[in-house]
Amino acid sequence: MLKINGARLWDSLMEMAKIGATPEGGVSRVAVSEEDRLGRDLLRSWATPLVEDFHIDEVGNMFFVRHGQQPESPVILTGSHLDTQIHGGRFDGAFGVMAGLEVLRTLAEEDIRLPYGIGLVAWTNEEEACYCPAMGSAVFVGKQNLQSALDCVGLNGKVFGEELKKIGYLGRPLELNISAYLEAHIEQGPVLENEKIQIGVVSGAQGQIAMNAEIVGEAGHSGTVPMRLRKDALVCAIDVINACRDLVVEEGKGVFTVGAFKLEPNSRTTIPDKISFGIDLRHPNADSLQNLQNLINKKIKVKAAEHCCQERIEVLFHKEPVVFTDSCVESVQSASDQLKCSSLVMPSGAFHDACLLASQVPTGMIFVPSQKGVSHNPTEYSSQEQLEKGANVLLHALLNLAEKGVPLS
Ligand SMILES: [Zn+2]
Repeated sequence: MLKINGARLWDSLMEMAKIGATPEGGVSRVAVSEEDRLGRDLLRSWATPLVEDFHIDEVGNMFFVRHGQQPESPVILTGSHLDTQIHGGRFDGAFGVMAGLEVLRTLAEEDIRLPYGIGLVAWTNEEEACYCPAMGSAVFVGKQNLQSALDCVGLNGKVFGEELKKIGYLGRPLELNISAYLEAHIEQGPVLENEKIQIGVVSGAQGQIAMNAEIVGEAGHSGTVPMRLRKDALVCAIDVINACRDLVVEEGKGVFTVGAFKLEPNSRTTIPDKISFGIDLRHPNADSLQNLQNLINKKIKVKAAEHCCQERIEVLFHKEPVVFTDSCVESVQSASDQLKCSSLVMPSGAFHDACLLASQVPTGMIFVPSQKGVSHNPTEYSSQEQLEKGANVLLHALLNLAEKGVPLS
């Protein structure tokens, strides 16, 4: 059975991780920085000898295409991103790019020509560590305007398009007939490790609703206002948060987080009169996500009334869940079975380039376990063996798609 070279995959990842390496063992390779340029140059030196076409598009996405049996054969694309968080790790993004590179190396070594071309892509600025929002794949699928991306001013005060040009990766419009997209990625969560499963067959990505909530009560002296006469905004907020959490736990598939919290006036001897907190609600199913949001809104209103407080809720954004294409999910599942890997069908908790590609082409994803679920952190880790399995599943999922043809739904 055809296999990628696991040691070479690991060596390439470690070589790439030297660019922007931090003392804690992580990587800081922020989009359009000097480190990004060096990472791109390294990838280019490895990938161009394996392909017939190399292209940089107008937002700096890099495409390496190994032709199929005909030069004009449509292309099945794989890849991920090389940019990292400021205090990022060695595997987020880089794994998907290096796994795709290994596929190209393997096809070249074995001199395999498929009915489809196989393309490797490195998307620009997935992490939005400096320039927000993320733009490479968003511009590519037409979800973001090119000019607004190029004009984007980063946290460092620099203009994205100017920096992209400076590092030599401002390219030209691309015309590529893409039939499908598969992305390998570390899970960035604890599920696979916890369940001792080797491969995540990703079914899509959770939808997300971000909300700000505010509870307003009445300030008062902590010694003089009797308990029964208080309008304590903090006590109300705690009750609200627990009740909302219970709703989501009971529902079973969603996740609910209050990760930001502000207490006013924040004085030991004053009954708090204003609490603001940020809610992040996610669910893989669109109707269930909406339903949970409605229940949460209702719960906040009811609890606020019980505590004689006022409430305000503001929805910051609502991202619909992404459902990956059956043919792509099946190709990953079959590849995992062919390689005798244990697997779990799961939604992605985080957002990836694949979630944007899914709006345009049949798309799927492969997860490998992340140690302790840690990511966006220097200690992010997956073993050589885990990554090798993931890259082999990618190889065979691509072969499955290329051999069967890809239905466009
Ligand atoms: Zn990533």
